[in-house]
Amino acid sequence: TYKELSRSKQDENATEQPRTKDLVARPGPPTIVEGIEGCIGNTPLFRIKSLSDETGCEILAKAEFLNGAGQSSKDRVALSMIEIAEEQGILTPHSGDTIYEGTSGSTGISLATLARAKGYLAHICMPSDQAIEKSNLLLKLGAIVDRVPPAPIVEKDNFVNRARALAKTHTASSGLSPPPSPSAASAEEKADLPEPDESMKRGRGFFADQFENEANWRAHYEGTGPELYAQCDGRLDAFVAGAGTGGTISGVARFLKPLLPKLTVVLADPQGSGLFNRVVYGVMFDLKEREGTRRRRQVDTIVEGIGINRVTANFEAGKELVDDAVRVTDAQALAMARWLVEKDGIFIGSSSAVNCIAAVKTARKLGPGHRIVTVLSDSGSRHLSRFWAKAGDVGGAVDTKLEDVMNA
Ligand code: PMP
Repeated sequence: TYKELSRSKQDENATEQPRTKDLVARPGPPTIVEGIEGCIGNTPLFRIKSLSDETGCEILAKAEFLNGAGQSSKDRVALSMIEIAEEQGILTPHSGDTIYEGTSGSTGISLATLARAKGYLAHICMPSDQAIEKSNLLLKLGAIVDRVPPAPIVEKDNFVNRARALAKTHTASSGLSPPPSPSAASAEEKADLPEPDESMKRGRGFFADQFENEANWRAHYEGTGPELYAQCDGRLDAFVAGAGTGGTISGVARFLKPLLPKLTVVLADPQGSGLFNRVVYGVMFDLKEREGTRRRRQVDTIVEGIGINRVTANFEAGKELVDDAVRVTDAQALAMARWLVEKDGIFIGSSSAVNCIAAVKTARKLGPGHRIVTVLSDSGSRHLSRFWAKAGDVGGAVDTKLEDVMNA
């Protein structure tokens, strides 16, 4: 193991001091793994010291930004969707097959990375208001990127609908029979779409479909959930996570709840998302909708990756297991992101900040002595131009109070 290796290194050279007093091995594959895919999963779970001390609870964070391909929790999902499509004969490596996806960025980055590793092309459609560093990174990975104006899912030009339709057009122009995908484009969705790039008129177009593809929650059911159970030695009181597709919360809840019937599963929902009301009141609406604005519009928040105004197949898969929900404002998320840098040196993205606010609220609701687990989905470096530009620089000699964060 890493631990044994580092220990024998220390023995070899006894005069050399280890860099940290307590050199703890990252849990993970103890041997050499095959390719970048082997660096996905087995992420560390660590105690967020400041939030644990302040609440009297143990607040633990799953460091999903340490997944090795695209550096987010979406690595697990991308690998699962590709592997299941390969098993079903929908994708064949090095055959010119192209993976299409509609994504706020993270899933696209994971898919584009794994596409390169496995011999596919990637074509990613994302809303144009998401942080520019995500689409720049996609281009570096050799993906084709469509930044489309933000639009609700009911509109044809929504990024998800566009990816679905492009995949269908690609397959049609290749002369191959369409893959047995559950999400076929309607004739109306296909209209007005550009022809796929000439160089890509080979192989099939595969629409990964993270929102509806149940390979998504299964990746968390088979990976994140069992890892958490083992890391916690079977002792946790609450699991807190946001939902973008719903895959994380559903997959983890479906694994943990049968083993831990008393576990409280809490949805962390950003402002503008309809899921909070769905969990708390059983209906999907929010105040703006009641005032008569368009239904199911794009979620109005600076937070990227979580918050939706519909029940996706992946949220549906676990929604009965969600016990409670916390609504988090953009101001709270920005303040929490700054707090975690200031107090703990943890630099995270916007959805992780939302999760941490909800984790503190859950700790306060349950009372001291409980163990609360949440997810840090990606790093702050994916959010420099948008979320962190708003959050600003964390000053040198600051001493923020947690109450100011929670009341931001
Ligand atoms: N955080 C980020 C940054 C994401 O991109 C996503 C997925 N869109 C999530 C959290 C939410 O995960 P899930 O899709 O499993 O609900």
